[in-house]
Amino acid sequence: MLAAGAQDAGQIVVLRSAALFDGVSPALMARPSVLIADGVIAAVYGPAGLLPAGARVVDLPGLTLMPGLVDAHLHLCFDATGDPAGHLADTRDGLLREHMAEAARRALRAGVTTVRDLGDRGYLALDLRDSDPAGGAGPLPTIVAAGPPITTPGGHCHFLGGATSGERGLRAAVRDHAERGVDVIKVMASGGNITPGSLPHEAQFSAGELRAIVDEAHRHGLPVTAHAHSAKSIADAVAAGVDGIEHATFMTADGVDAPETVIRAIASHRVAVGWTVGRDPAQPGSVPPQIAGRMPGLIAARRRLYESGALLVPGSDAGVTPAKPHDVLRFAPEDMAVVGLSPAEILSAMTSRAAQACGLGHRKGRIAVGFDADILAIDGNPLQDLAAICRLHAIYAGGRAIHSALGGRARIEVA
Ligand SMILES: [Zn+2]
Repeated sequence: MLAAGAQDAGQIVVLRSAALFDGVSPALMARPSVLIADGVIAAVYGPAGLLPAGARVVDLPGLTLMPGLVDAHLHLCFDATGDPAGHLADTRDGLLREHMAEAARRALRAGVTTVRDLGDRGYLALDLRDSDPAGGAGPLPTIVAAGPPITTPGGHCHFLGGATSGERGLRAAVRDHAERGVDVIKVMASGGNITPGSLPHEAQFSAGELRAIVDEAHRHGLPVTAHAHSAKSIADAVAAGVDGIEHATFMTADGVDAPETVIRAIASHRVAVGWTVGRDPAQPGSVPPQIAGRMPGLIAARRRLYESGALLVPGSDAGVTPAKPHDVLRFAPEDMAVVGLSPAEILSAMTSRAAQACGLGHRKGRIAVGFDADILAIDGNPLQDLAAICRLHAIYAGGRAIHSALGGRARIEVA
C-alpha cells in the first residue's frame, strides 16, 4: 500500500496533500507541501511554494496531513487482557521487553508516534526508549517513561516494584528514579482498579509525603504526575504542587464529588489533567462497573474542568483492560466530544497539548518548522469527521515511513 521507503540520509522529502491540520490552528491549510530533511520539518508552504531541486516528492492526493498522535498515558508492560497483573507476574523480563516492543509498534502502526509509559517493571520502558532505532523488529514510537510508579507496600501496582514508605524512603525512591534516567515521576496517590485490595477512592499517601515526593523530583528537574481517583488524593496532590493528575475522577466510596475549590486550583495552577479516554468499540460493555455506575458524575466533573479552563490531556491507559489495546487512542474523540470539546480542540489535545504534557512540546505534536517529522496522512477532514483519524493511509515517524495498520485504499504514489 505505502510505497515510500525510509528516508535516505541527507535527502529532502516533500509531502504534498489536499489539506493540513498543524496541531494548533482551528482551520485546515489547503494544498500544503511539507518539506522534510533529516527527519525534521524544514518548511511548510502552500500551493505556490517552489520545490527544492533534487527533492523526492510523495503525493498523497485527497488526504489530510496532521501531526502524529501522542498517547500521554499507557502501560507497555500490561497486555490488555482480563488479567494484566497476573500475566505480568508470569513473564520474565526478557520476554516482557519483547511484548512491550510489540505493544509500542502496534501503537505506532495506528498513528501514535509518541507514547508516555506511566508505569513499567524494571525500567524496561526506559530500556526500549534508549534502544537502537535500527535494531529490533521495526521502528518504535518515541517513548517517554516513568519507570516503576512510586506506591505504598501492597498499594496500587506494588507488583511493578516501586513500593516504599516514609518521607526518607520516598525521597530515596525519587532519587533512584532520577539516577535511572526517568523522564517523569509517577506516584500512585490513591488506590486503583487493577490491584486486588486497593480502593480507588482511598488516598495512599499523606499530604506531607506527596510534598516530599514533589520537592525531591523538582529538585532533580523532573515533573511529577499523580495517579489520583479519590477526591482527597487529588486535593492533596494539587496542594503538593504536582505537574499532572492522572484520571482525576474525584471518586468517593459511592459516587463522585468534585469540590469547586479543587477544580479552580487545578485550572489556575495549570495542572495537566490526564483524561482517561478511548475504548475499543469491538469490546462492548467493557467499562468497569465501578466506573460505569459513576459515569454521569464523572462526565459532569470533566465538563466543569473543561469549562474552568483546565488543561485536559488525553491518555488511553492502554494495556489495563481488553477494551484498551495499545492502539486504542484513535477512539478517544468520542469520549472527549461528550464533554463539549470541538473537533479542533480534541485534535489539538491529542497532538500538541499531549506533547507538552510529555515534556516534548518543543518538537512533537505540531507540523511546523523545526519539529520532528511525525506526520499522518488521513482520509477526510478531521475537523468535520473525527473518525477520519481511523482512516490512516500513511505514517511518518521522524521522517521515516511506517506501514499503517489502518489504511483503506492503495492510493499513495511516490514520484
Ligand atoms: Zn495507568
